[in-house]
Amino acid sequence: MATTLIRSRAMITGTRDRNSWNEIAEGAVLQEDGVVVELGTYDDLSRKHPSVPVVGSGREILLPGFVNGHHHVGLTPVQLGSPDMPLELWFVTRMVSRNLNLYLDTLYSAFEMIASGITTVQHIHGWAPGTLPTVQAGSQEVIRAYEDIGMRVSYCYAVRDQNRLVYEEDAAFVARLPEELQGPMRQWFSRFKLSLDDHMDLFANLRSTYADKERVKIQLAPANLHWCSDAALTKIAAASAAGDVPMHMHVLETALQKEYAWRRGGCTAVEYLDRFGMLGPRLTLGHGVWLNERDIDRVAETGTCICHNCSSNFRLRSGIAALNRFEAKGINVAIGLDEAGINDDRDMLQEMRMVLRAHRVPGMEDDVPTSAQVFRMATEDGAKTTGFGSRIGVLEVGKAADMVLIDWQQISYPYLDREIGLLDAVVQRAKTQGVRTVMCAGEVIYDQGKFTNVDRDAALRALHDDLQRTLSDDEVDRRKLSKALLPHVKAFYKNYVDPEKHEPFYRQSSRV
Ligand SMILES: [Zn+2]
Repeated sequence: MATTLIRSRAMITGTRDRNSWNEIAEGAVLQEDGVVVELGTYDDLSRKHPSVPVVGSGREILLPGFVNGHHHVGLTPVQLGSPDMPLELWFVTRMVSRNLNLYLDTLYSAFEMIASGITTVQHIHGWAPGTLPTVQAGSQEVIRAYEDIGMRVSYCYAVRDQNRLVYEEDAAFVARLPEELQGPMRQWFSRFKLSLDDHMDLFANLRSTYADKERVKIQLAPANLHWCSDAALTKIAAASAAGDVPMHMHVLETALQKEYAWRRGGCTAVEYLDRFGMLGPRLTLGHGVWLNERDIDRVAETGTCICHNCSSNFRLRSGIAALNRFEAKGINVAIGLDEAGINDDRDMLQEMRMVLRAHRVPGMEDDVPTSAQVFRMATEDGAKTTGFGSRIGVLEVGKAADMVLIDWQQISYPYLDREIGLLDAVVQRAKTQGVRTVMCAGEVIYDQGKFTNVDRDAALRALHDDLQRTLSDDEVDRRKLSKALLPHVKAFYKNYVDPEKHEPFYRQSSRV
């Protein structure tokens, strides 16, 4: 039986409300086989369990591990040749992505995530070419990387069965293009061979393959409203209800998506999903930037979750989500680093500060994010949007032993006023270089800059070496196609939103 005692200078076990948290000075956690079995002071627990190995020096702050609520890829889009652009144009640039070794690619971002204290990721995979066996093999390579490194993954493969490049049917978009682009565009669409039934089979296959795994959960992902036919929404909603399976869905990331929903259903995207019975605690809306007041009320009333992807919304010019309204309505909101955070890496400590700062609207009311709120979003709230639910996200007896130890000296040296609250100090000042130890399911997976299960240097070298090969024919073709398509996609969206019908884009700035 693997038992350890994790000691701290102080530990934060969870939040009480948006201004307070539970803290134990010189606290410690006793974990057995990956489960927290006792909490208390280090003095008491070490006296009771004198022979149990100790993790931590007593100079660190102990916290529950963080949850990255929305993640897609290893190498970032910029690394793969896609600069930041408005989302709908950026999709076109993503065609240039290399044919990657999915195992090594997944390890790459896992290294960054774990080093910033993340122990669980919501991995939303997609855009894998080929038939069901090929796509499934790719899914398993992604999951194998997380299993090898030791972090938790809530994995889903995003269902897209229509409108794969712009917000209209593939064939209709092909018909708009000049003749010389029609063939290459058709060929690109034909790379993705999963039918809707294949998508549902993929979900069922993975779910049974990983049914007994402690650190792997398989969930559902209708990719976005425009990407899913009514048949897809119906099947996914039924599978979610039948197996009590969480769903993560990009919704209203941009103003153009708001217009798309209106054109499709004469209603908002949230109202459209409501028709399929999809709203509720099992559904997480990724982004949710363009929810209107009525949508927000409906999301709150149904217990639907939101994942706030703050940096991504800035980078792809999507807008600013109404986080302060979400919080005031009591909505469960996770934090997602999405593709690459603000700094083109996966640094949860930095993203928490981004969330803390981005919504500080003028005024003196208590309606802007607090440290405790952001911390709760990054832990307990994020947990509820994954397949692990309330098993993770707080340090309590019976919960999973997922923890991070952050050096207090890095936070407080050379001076920090004693009246600054512990959690305020951590959220505002902790940096990745201060992360000392990360544990998942009671196992130390990162310690003093080293990954205990995987050789980071060797994995990065292998990733680098693999990408030194010359571009394959299909990689070259996709580069050409992407460049040629850009003006046509831009033209498609020109005047897509009718300002007569909708509030102007800038109106949302008054309610961030
Ligand atoms: Zn996303």
